[in-house]
Amino acid sequence: MIHPQIEKLLIVQTKDLALQKVQQEIERIPNDRARIETLIDEEKASIESAKSELNAKEVERNDLDSQIKSKESDIAKFKTQQLEVKKNEEYRALTHQIEQAQSDISQLEEKEIEIMYSIDEAKISFEQAKAEIDQRIAEQTKQLSELEARLKQLKEDVQSAEMEYTNARETVEPSTLETYDRTKSQIKRPPYISAIEVQNCAGCHLRVSNDVLGLAIAGEEIIACDQCARIVYKT
Ligand SMILES: [Zn+2]
Repeated sequence: MIHPQIEKLLIVQTKDLALQKVQQEIERIPNDRARIETLIDEEKASIESAKSELNAKEVERNDLDSQIKSKESDIAKFKTQQLEVKKNEEYRALTHQIEQAQSDISQLEEKEIEIMYSIDEAKISFEQAKAEIDQRIAEQTKQLSELEARLKQLKEDVQSAEMEYTNARETVEPSTLETYDRTKSQIKRPPYISAIEVQNCAGCHLRVSNDVLGLAIAGEEIIACDQCARIVYKT
């Protein structure tokens, strides 16, 4: 026969576990939030790094451009000098310098064309990557706001769960509640109250002693499993 206090205690346990479930979900939220925020930061960082690669190519291109301009102004300068020199030797030397500068320019221009192609390619792949990343960020941002909505709901739920737990406790005798609270502090994982099935505790699945079984069947006092210390009862 089941002890009348055990029946009430089983309701306390149900309300207790429901409350714990809500509390645990609330406790997990900061971690979940931090995990999503880290993902968003990583996505943003990868956009930045792709952007800086592209910028580096632009810098390289600008550098080539200014090298070409400088060679061009050298050529103009050499040509002006040619108008002023008297000796053929000096004139030829300047012609040689002009030719050298022109050859440098065509090499620089080739490089510039290469880099312009690679900028075009990098821009296309950057835009593609950015579109994908932006989509992921939008999804993650949505998850964050869902999480906040969930937290708001849980904070309401926890209040009613606390109230139900408190109300259930009020129906139980103080000494039985003490036994429940003590058992709870000793047991790592719920349940704190278990049925005895045949002669095995449903909490730890071990066989209880004949004494425990006999007392549980009598149902006159609150009995603990002699293996795991859970409160046990026999229906
Ligand atoms: Zn047990």
